Amino acid sequence: MTRRISIFGVTGSIGQSTVDLIKRDQDAYDVIALSGGRNIAQLAQDAIDLKAEIAVTAFEYLLPDLRAALKGSGVEAAAGEVALLEAADRPTDWCMSAIVGLAGLAPGMRALRHGGVLALANKESLVSAGPMIMAEAAKYGATILPVDSEHSAIFQALTGEPRDAVERVIITASGGAFRDWPLDDLRHATLAQASSHPNWDMGQRITIDSASMFNKAMEIIEAKEFFKFSPAQIEVLIHPQSLIHAMIGYNDGGLMAHVGPADMRHAIGFALHWPDRKHLPVERLDFARIGTFEFRAPCDTRYPALRLAREVMDTGGLSGAAFTAAKDAALDAFIAGRCGFMDMAGMVEDVLTRITRSGDHNASMTLENIRLTDHLAQKYAADTLTARAS
Ligand code: NAD
Ligand code: MG
Repeated sequence: MTRRISIFGVTGSIGQSTVDLIKRDQDAYDVIALSGGRNIAQLAQDAIDLKAEIAVTAFEYLLPDLRAALKGSGVEAAAGEVALLEAADRPTDWCMSAIVGLAGLAPGMRALRHGGVLALANKESLVSAGPMIMAEAAKYGATILPVDSEHSAIFQALTGEPRDAVERVIITASGGAFRDWPLDDLRHATLAQASSHPNWDMGQRITIDSASMFNKAMEIIEAKEFFKFSPAQIEVLIHPQSLIHAMIGYNDGGLMAHVGPADMRHAIGFALHWPDRKHLPVERLDFARIGTFEFRAPCDTRYPALRLAREVMDTGGLSGAAFTAAKDAALDAFIAGRCGFMDMAGMVEDVLTRITRSGDHNASMTLENIRLTDHLAQKYAADTLTARAS
């Protein structure tokens, strides 16, 4: 029996890895919708190769280009936010949510209404709107499967174990590009230096977020929202090899660790085949050759993002939406050369302080209020940047 699938954010890093897996067994899938952004050539190529029903670009001005690229293929072309939601309304059994940023939240929410599986890579969904998206999944009987190496690892290490026996969860972090740098040098870290990851091959933004640990900060919030751990149960551990992705500590002192190659196709493939396990084209680890697993505790001064994530978990409400928006604004500023590497956390902290002081984070969690908080946090981040520059 074929499974109906859609991939939102198909042209990105996660999207392309998903296509790679689908193409290996294409007859097993009936591809409904694919979405992308500005890379029209890739979007059209994937839509034609996978015989999709519809291809959607997020940008309306690119519709003529997409139409031209799909001419004669039989694949429908569409563009814009509304078209993206309409594409998400087409029934599927499995849907990949791999758009980057808050733009990924609404299509994912819509896809949940089919009651199938939502493979969730988009981090902003859980960080900004955890309770809302989890409630939506419950309402429609849908299953969310996490697509991040750490959260897939947690999911796997929890399987078959009694949940009330869980004492703690250890989420590992590579430590990013600057893990061995002297602290004083971090202030002068350049964009090029922050954009190269020691272990993972990912997009520029998530690579910089790994160096600053904003990526890990997002991940601990995601873990709290998705698995309902208490913040006190969640630990971060630097593990430079990135081979153990997470460990669950049980009340008898035993730990279940998930070990695997640093290849996102494992987490994507696990979500694609769940509840089965199927052959995946990833490296098989040779422990004798690896030899050593190293661990160290993350230093709060080096990684202020982790402290900020704990504040967000304690504050709750819309503070997660403010956090992601402020983090993205700070990252934009760093990429544009408008602030230093270590200034990003200060900017995010300023925004969080303003949002929580005004009580804006206490508004009800709706898509509209999340968008408003996103705008407000971006405005506050711009104010902070101006104030810091003067
Ligand atoms: P990417 O930048 O490589 O791709 C993002 C995709 O989103 C592209 O298809 C792009 O066209 C689309 N997009 C961008 N802006 C859009 C908009 N406004 N509206 C609609 N579509 C838009 O990103 P990625 O690395 O594949 O990551 C996707 C998501 O998965 C992110 O939330 C990221 O944090 C998360 N994630 C990524 C990795 C990884 O290894 N790359 C690991 C875990 C989680
Ligand atoms: Mg991760």
